[in-house]
Amino acid sequence: MTQPRPRPAVASLPAYVPGARPSDERAHKLSSNENPYPPLDPVRAVIAEAAGRVNRYPEMFADTLVAALGERFGVGPAGVVASTGSVAVLSHLLQAYCEPGDQVVTAWRSFEAYPILVRLQGAEHVQVPLASGARHDLAAMADAVTDRTRAVLVCTPNNPTGPAVHHDELVALLASVPEDVVVVIDEAYVEFITDPRAADGPALLAEHPNVVLLRTFSKAYGLAGLRVGYAVAHPEVAAAVRTAATPFGVNDLAQTAAVASLTAEDALLDRVRAVVAERERVAGALRGQGWQVPDAQGNFVWLPTGDRTAELASRAAARGLLVRPFAGEGVRVSIGSPDANDAVLALTAEWAPGE
Ligand code: PMP
Repeated sequence: MTQPRPRPAVASLPAYVPGARPSDERAHKLSSNENPYPPLDPVRAVIAEAAGRVNRYPEMFADTLVAALGERFGVGPAGVVASTGSVAVLSHLLQAYCEPGDQVVTAWRSFEAYPILVRLQGAEHVQVPLASGARHDLAAMADAVTDRTRAVLVCTPNNPTGPAVHHDELVALLASVPEDVVVVIDEAYVEFITDPRAADGPALLAEHPNVVLLRTFSKAYGLAGLRVGYAVAHPEVAAAVRTAATPFGVNDLAQTAAVASLTAEDALLDRVRAVVAERERVAGALRGQGWQVPDAQGNFVWLPTGDRTAELASRAAARGLLVRPFAGEGVRVSIGSPDANDAVLALTAEWAPGE
C-alpha cells in the first residue's frame, strides 16, 4: 500500500524533547526552566472569568495584548506579533523569510528548537560553536554570514549554558551583517539578567530595522501552560511574521492572562528577584563545590558533566529531581523552590568534579 510521504526535511528531523514530567507529586520538575510559583490571584481570577466565554473566538491577533505591548515598547501595535509561545513566533518568522537552500546562523549549543524550525523550512542550520565560558562568539557568527543567510538567531541569555550577550558585541554584529538579514534576539529569559553589560534589545531595535526581539510570557511571567509569546519588530517585518501566523492562535484565556500579568508586573518581578537570588546562591555554591558553572543569567544553571551526563541525570531522577541532560555535554538545572535547590546542591556535592 502506498503511504502519504512527508517532505524529506520533515522525515529527517530530530524530535523536540520535552522536559521530563514528574510521575510523583513530591518530585521537583527542574527540566523546562519554568517559573516555580503558581499564578497570582488576580491572574487566576481573569482566567476563570475568561473560561465562561470560550464558546466565542478570541481576538484574532490578540489585539488588546498587542496594543499594550506596542505601547510599552514604543512601537505601536503594528510592531508586535503574538502567537502560541515564542517558538511559534519564531516558526512564523522563519516561514516568512526562509526558503529551501537559505541559511540561518545560530550559536551551538543553543536552544534545541532552532535546528528543528530551521530545517522544517528546508533551510540549512549553520552552527557556530560557543566560545570559552559557553558564550556566543558573535565575531565568528558574523563571519559565518554568507549571501545565502536570511537570519541570525542570538539567544541571550543562552539556553542551556546561561551567559548573556553583551551590548557592544551585538552592536558590532549588527554593523557587519547586511541589513537584509533578520537578526533575531531571543530574549526568553531577559527579565532574569543582572549583567550590566547585557544587550539592550529595544535600543538595538530602535536603530536597526532588521532586529526582531523575541519574548515570552512562559518564564518570568509564569504562564508557560497558556502559551503566549511575541515578537517586537519593525512594522514591515512584523507584518510579514503576522502573515504566517495562525489566525485566532492565542486563546482567550491566554490573552486575558497575559494582559493581567502586565498589570500585575510588580508582584511578578518580585518573584523574578527571588529566583535570581536563588540562582546566585546555587551558582555560587556549585562553584564552591568545584563545578565550572558558566555565568548564569537565566533561571537555570549549566553543569558541564561531559561523559557523566546521563549518570548524573538518572541519579537526580532517583531522588525526585528532574533535570535536563544534553547527552555527552552537560546538564541544565532550572532554579526551583529553595527546597528543590537544596536537594540539587546535596546531590552535586557528592558528584563534584574530581571526586
Ligand atoms: N527561546 C528560548 C531560548 C527558550 O528557552 C524557550 C523555552 N524553552 C523559548 C524560546 C520558547 O518559549 P515559549 O514557546 O514557551 O514562549
